[in-house]
This record gives sequence, structure tokens and C-alpha cells, in this order.
Amino acid sequence: MVTAQGSPSPRTGGDPGPAVSVTAAVVREKGGPFALEDLTLSTVLRPDEVLVKVVASGLCQTDIHVRDQHLPTPLPAVLGHEGAGIVERVGDAVSTVSPGDRVVLSYQACGHCTPCLTGNPAYCALSFPANFGGSRLDGTNALRAGDEEIHGHFFGQSSFATHALATERNVVRIDDEDIPLELLGPLGCGLQTGAGAVLNTLKVAAGSSVVVIGTGTVGLAAVMAAKVAGAGSVIAVDIVDERLELARELGATHTVNGKEEDTGARIAEITGTGADYVLEITARPEMLTLAVDALAPLGTATLIGGAPAGTHAPVNMNALLGGRTVRGVAQGDSVPQLFIPQLIDLYKAGRFPFDRLITFYGFDRINEAVTDTRTGAVIKPVLRIGE
Ligand SMILES: [Zn+2]
Ligand SMILES: [Zn+2]
Repeated sequence: MVTAQGSPSPRTGGDPGPAVSVTAAVVREKGGPFALEDLTLSTVLRPDEVLVKVVASGLCQTDIHVRDQHLPTPLPAVLGHEGAGIVERVGDAVSTVSPGDRVVLSYQACGHCTPCLTGNPAYCALSFPANFGGSRLDGTNALRAGDEEIHGHFFGQSSFATHALATERNVVRIDDEDIPLELLGPLGCGLQTGAGAVLNTLKVAAGSSVVVIGTGTVGLAAVMAAKVAGAGSVIAVDIVDERLELARELGATHTVNGKEEDTGARIAEITGTGADYVLEITARPEMLTLAVDALAPLGTATLIGGAPAGTHAPVNMNALLGGRTVRGVAQGDSVPQLFIPQLIDLYKAGRFPFDRLITFYGFDRINEAVTDTRTGAVIKPVLRIGE
């Protein structure tokens, strides 16, 4: 396992060359606020890099986990990993996007390891340093506050800024001229994670039973995708009635309020023999235990939520002997350049109405967006950053 421990500390001095001025939300201390600062972003592009003028960026729970240092991205840093924008410049070796193209930014991968070469970039051997390392893989950074180096390249983008530096590997060109770009950033992480777990990983069969534990962005994307797949029953579990109501509108056939009802008993009652698929998104150990217990023979439980490092969950060993499977899923097993256009097609067909999850905020209201997502007042905040 490669960790970010070897990431360099911010350095000072040295001429970084030509740069563009950016306004970025900087996190300087653990749990501290996102503070808008004027920085510079080097425009000396590596051959594979793509400079993007950011239009909007989703805010994901992972940004908050990193701000709070549950994951060891070095600070000060610019986070943000659901960016959407317009290509401004490209490196010499980039051939799939050009200046003026509309793009969604997704997660980063190395492109050279065995998972990448076998079409599984979400499981890249360098996934942690490439997404959370706070620098390019070679340890350099393009962002500066005066002479001070600021950690960037978060998920190959750091999209909480008026410009982001991505690479050809993690930009997805959007050829559709009609769809508003400001809606699309969350496709690059939260939405592809939930929908991909259903459509790519589990390949949910028509008529089957699907349980979704946790109905935030990822869970509601999974609910919509389960309906697309033709699942017979889609059981949404949460503790917030408004979210369960929305889950029902988006395709859930049953809802369970885990605070008021015995979740395991209700799933057993609805499914009879247990669920064919359970998606566990809350990252709470007791819910993974429950997910396995809720499975029908030959059923699969997927763990999608990210728990704090070192978290363990007890699993009923004998349940696994009934042909049951537990597996973790990252980024919905998505190859973003293939899957995001498919999700946009489903959106346009009215079958993946993810715009219903989104609440827009001005960039200067980023801390309010964090509070509102924490309290559950909004599901998916999207920051309007540029024109
Ligand atoms: Zn790789
Ligand atoms: Zn995310």
C-alpha cells in the first residue's frame, strides 16, 4: 500500500515560471474553514496536462473528511474533486481534448499499473498518492501563495479554484451542447459511484431485490440506477424521512427509517428470502454487519462508503458459506470517459434525474454549503465558481 506519508512539505522559493492568477478555497489547518485566497497556478504544462477554467464544482463528503484530516492529505491544500469547466490550454501530448471543450473532471489514476491496464483505473495501485497526495506523482505542485507552495492536484484537479490543472486521463469531454455544464461536476465522483455500483459492479438483474443503506448523493444515484436496471424491489434505508420520501420519488419501492424500525427485520419481511444486493454507503461497521445478514443465498453486499482508517466490522462467517459475497467498490467501477456520457444520456431520457439532488451556492458560500450538507439540509451542494 502506497501512502501519502512521503509527500513533500510546502517549499518556498524557486521561480515556477508563467502562471495564471486564481481564486481558490484553501484549507490551512485541520478542521479549519475553506478560505478564499488569491493564488497563482503555474501554466508550464506537463505534456499530459489540461488547464481548465472551472465553471462549477460539487462538494463531496470526501472533501470534508480531508479538511478534517481523517485522510492524510498534507495542508495547506486546495481540495475539490467534482469539477466541470472549459479547457483553456493543453499540454503537447494531449489529443482527446482541445481549448474550448466542455469537460467534467473525475478521479486520477496512473494509467500504467495492472488495474489501470486491465480497465480498472478505480483500483489503480497509485490511487492514494494520485488522488490524496496533494501533489503530482513526482511530488511537485503548480499552486503557490506568493512564494509558498500550496498542495494541489487533489484527485488530479483541486477544483475549488477558478482554474484547475487536470490531465488527459481524468477529463471527460462533453459533446452535448445543450446540457448545463454547472450541473455535471458531481457525475465525476458521487453520482458515478452510486450508479456505477449498480450498473457496472453488480450488474443488477431485472426483477431482483436491491437494498440501499444511506440515501445521500451516492445512495440516491444507486436508487435511480436500480430502477433503470429494472430491479423488482428497491429498498431505501435512512434515518431522515425527507430523504426517504425523495428516494421513493426517484424509484424506491420501499423505505425503512432505521431509527424507527428494525431494518434487518423489515428487509427480511419485504424480500422473503433476503436481498439479492445490498449497497452499504454509511461506512458504519454495524451497517456492514447488517448488510451481510440481510443477503439472500448467493447475494452480494457492496461496501461503498469510506470509513476512517483502521475501521473493522464483524461479519457472520457462516452467512458467507451460503455463496454470499462482500466486496468494496471504488468510484462505481467507472471508466469515466465511458460511463459519464451514458449517465448523461439517461438524464436526458428522464431516467436519471440527478438535478433533483443539487443545490447551488456561490463560491463565497462554500462553508455554508459544508454546514448544510453536514446537517442534511441539502444533498449535493454545487459551487458556482466561474462563468
Ligand atoms: Zn494505475
Ligand atoms: Zn467524492
